[in-house]
Amino acid sequence: MDFKEYIRVIPDFPQPGISFKDITTLLNNGEKYREAINELKSMVSDLKIDLIAGPEARGFVVGAPLAYALGVGFIPIRKSGKLPYQTIEVGYDLEYGSDRLAMHSDAVKPGQNVLIADDLLATGGTISTSVKLVRELGGNVVGTAFLIELSELNGRDKLPGIDVFSLLTY
Ligand code: AMP
Repeated sequence: MDFKEYIRVIPDFPQPGISFKDITTLLNNGEKYREAINELKSMVSDLKIDLIAGPEARGFVVGAPLAYALGVGFIPIRKSGKLPYQTIEVGYDLEYGSDRLAMHSDAVKPGQNVLIADDLLATGGTISTSVKLVRELGGNVVGTAFLIELSELNGRDKLPGIDVFSLLTY
């Protein structure tokens, strides 16, 4: 099944030179959204997964249904200042400036196996920061899963030794 026809590509958004992969057109189609999640589920079916973690906001729309389908828990990774309980935080550089991602400090128990999910792997900055958060709590990152991978940005290079599963590659 080629899901590409359900992804809307917007040139020069949010700035010139970026080819934005808009997944809302896939999410809008209940049958295809479910098929996409089920296909990701089958790609990770050999892994032993205790929890799925996903960075806001589009990591939620991939990670949470995948967690539901697998019958495992979901951990929201959020921008600094959004989570109500005690958190751990890791900073990361953006093209302009920097940002911080946070996770509840009791979200992962040492030794738990965590899959990290997001809509799209670009430079890998978001996901490698998510990996650091999980590892800081003693979790094992057993893999990463995406609807889309932008292969020319080499995000995989920021995830050495970690399996990357992606439904679509551009
Ligand atoms: P990165 O940290 O560079 O791997 O960027 C990943 C995050 O930025 C993902 O959560 C995406 O939602 C978003 N993103 C980056 N590039 C694009 C793009 N070309 N189209 C859509 N979303 C993107």
